[in-house]
Amino acid sequence: MSDSELDLTLDAAELTAALVDIPSVSGDEKVLADLVEQALRTLPHLTVDRYGNNVVARTHLGRAERVVLAGHLDTVPIADNVPSRLDENGVLWGCGTTDMKSGVAVQLRIAATVPEPNRDLTFVFYDQEEVAADLNGLGKVAEAHPDWLAGDFAVLLEPSDAEVEGGCQGTLRVLLRTTGERAHSARSWMGSNAIHAAAPILAKLAAYEPRRPVIDGLEYHEGLNAVRIEGGVANNVIPDACTVTVNFRYAPDRTPAEAMAHVEEVFADCGVAEFVIDDSSGGALPGLSHPAAAAFMEAVGGKAMPKFGWTDVSRFSALGVPAVNYGPGDALLAHKVDERVDTKAILHCEERLRAWLTS
Ligand SMILES: [Zn+2]
Repeated sequence: MSDSELDLTLDAAELTAALVDIPSVSGDEKVLADLVEQALRTLPHLTVDRYGNNVVARTHLGRAERVVLAGHLDTVPIADNVPSRLDENGVLWGCGTTDMKSGVAVQLRIAATVPEPNRDLTFVFYDQEEVAADLNGLGKVAEAHPDWLAGDFAVLLEPSDAEVEGGCQGTLRVLLRTTGERAHSARSWMGSNAIHAAAPILAKLAAYEPRRPVIDGLEYHEGLNAVRIEGGVANNVIPDACTVTVNFRYAPDRTPAEAMAHVEEVFADCGVAEFVIDDSSGGALPGLSHPAAAAFMEAVGGKAMPKFGWTDVSRFSALGVPAVNYGPGDALLAHKVDERVDTKAILHCEERLRAWLTS
């Protein structure tokens, strides 16, 4: 193999090592995106499209279903852990081994070795996942070329320890403002204290009982919490303004609008002067009852787990494509200096996906 091309005849573990040895910290994915595009263009059964440093390759076999396999090309900054190192136990160490060049290697291997899949396939390789959400390459493709991402079901090969993580919870941040009237603290009865006015909000939060709904067999766990509180003018002034920032993490059976309505209802009798939405990202339904997803669950085995944090599966969900996370590697090792992946897990994941797409 020359340095200037990716060798897709390597097994998925060797290919992971080769990918790790090509640095691609967020914002610097061009070299790797070029190599991925080049390698995919040599495969006659795929059409290849590119938008920025995002590469999409598709089969067009006229199958009844289309499945999307997606992964991001970027990593967090390198921490003196590139090039990769394979130890005597078959564990591969280095930046991006688990998050998520092992998953990208599996995508590339399936692309290269399954020319006649039982479902049409779309492979998505995107940039800037590890940085601000508005830079996310998958989001950019979704905006500019939503048709490239069309499908019946999507698998993001993010590290999930080869368990299926279905859907994800939504997140909403709301500023709850209370008001009062300024006065000198020596004559506090002349004013009214906005910080004290926040007390009912805090009492409500402390007593709040979150739902744990079961959706498609997965149990979610909501949470409504204060994450910040701001108020006060000076040490001798009764404050006239206070803001409690509340973060609502909600199960994917609520829409963003319903989540907001819930927050307003919870605090309806708390004397809140104003509710201001600070941030809102919808969740994603697991979609495990879709036939393609059910076949996937059967092929990969194991039990599906809910995803509590917000992930890119909800970008697919917003396009009407149910999506799950399923990939080699332990998410708890992601972004760590001692990031590593068991090469057996990479091969296992490849083998399970191949079984699903060829059976
Ligand atoms: Zn990742």
